[in-house]
Amino acid sequence: MESISEIYRIGTGPSSSHTMGPRKAAQLFKESVPQAVRFNVDLYGSLAATGKGHLTDKALEDVLSPAGEVTINWLADTVLDYHTNGMKFTAYDKDGNVLSEKIVFSVGGGKIVWQDEIESGESSVKSIYPMKRISDILEWCEKTGRTYWEYVDDCEGEWIWDYLHEVWEVMKAAVERGLEAEGVLPGGLGVRRKAVSYYMKASGYSSSLKSRGLVYSYALAVSEENASGGMIVTAPTCGSCGVLPAVLYHLYLSRGFSEKRILRALATAGIFGNVVKTNASISGAEVGCQGEVGVACAMAAAAASQLFGGSPAQIEYAAEMGLEHHLGLTCDPVCGLVQIPCIERNAYAAARALDSNLYASFSDGVHSVSFDRVVSVMKQTGHDLPSVYKETSQGGLAAIE
Ligand code: SF4
Repeated sequence: MESISEIYRIGTGPSSSHTMGPRKAAQLFKESVPQAVRFNVDLYGSLAATGKGHLTDKALEDVLSPAGEVTINWLADTVLDYHTNGMKFTAYDKDGNVLSEKIVFSVGGGKIVWQDEIESGESSVKSIYPMKRISDILEWCEKTGRTYWEYVDDCEGEWIWDYLHEVWEVMKAAVERGLEAEGVLPGGLGVRRKAVSYYMKASGYSSSLKSRGLVYSYALAVSEENASGGMIVTAPTCGSCGVLPAVLYHLYLSRGFSEKRILRALATAGIFGNVVKTNASISGAEVGCQGEVGVACAMAAAAASQLFGGSPAQIEYAAEMGLEHHLGLTCDPVCGLVQIPCIERNAYAAARALDSNLYASFSDGVHSVSFDRVVSVMKQTGHDLPSVYKETSQGGLAAIE
């Protein structure tokens, strides 16, 4: 399993698979052909179906156009074998000769996989975690008396704490910027930012109503920042980037948890997200929103459980609840924008993560369905879902009435 830094990518929204991944691929391709003066990009499957709303074209043009003319072809009906989010880059010299042609896939969370890697079997993935199932890590915790974040520390080394510190700073800044911003989100749907009004209303209540309203407002703040192309952290994706910061920011302020404990909670959340990414998928285009907001909820539930002193078994239970009760969730962004239902869904999932923690904390951690089992069910459910519910904006809420 890769470093958890691959789950927490710092960058600009609105989509990790449709904006961050293509941007990264374009950058690497451009650097590989410095003599190119013209580029052609074919976008396939989901990338073509919702790329306009997700600003895929803008990301590609931002990178490639300083070097030459760019043509983008939208080929939504063509789906390549490896993954629905396929792209083909072609570079030309000044005489129109092809200099290079590469196929690459944006597989979720900002990660890209080149066709060359698939064909050669030589993966660029650097595996640093020997265990890739939560049940094995849980067993290690039970045997050693240690816990998830200590496993992260063992496998990653000291540097991860500096990186998680940076992640936490970007997450906090996104909440705080989002709570200040007002107005309508870009894209043409006319969606007004709501974080500030939720924050103001919540502040007027006391105890549990206030607490719940604040969590909503923090999740809305980050998701609205993402929708307007602001700087966020994938956790595990851009579309689901509001859930974990909302829970952590709320607990940090309301319970006074130290930054050190917040970073340890981030480490634990990262390992749960990483297990899903490794054994199933965090791509809405591949498995629907259960792989994005569902996984974010599981990560936030694990983080909350650890902060409240949950045992390794209770943490696993909280995460399992967070994902299990999002099984089957479709990805159907209206007009391909990461706004409806994405933004509200983040607020709901943040609240559900806290409920999952509460539910697990009343238990002794013993339960029937393991986290690993629910990950495998999520993967199968995602494959069984028709493509209209997997980031193509052809079904569900996105279907034109
Ligand atoms: S519906 Fe979910 S998976 Fe789809 S774009 Fe929105 S947040 Fe991402």
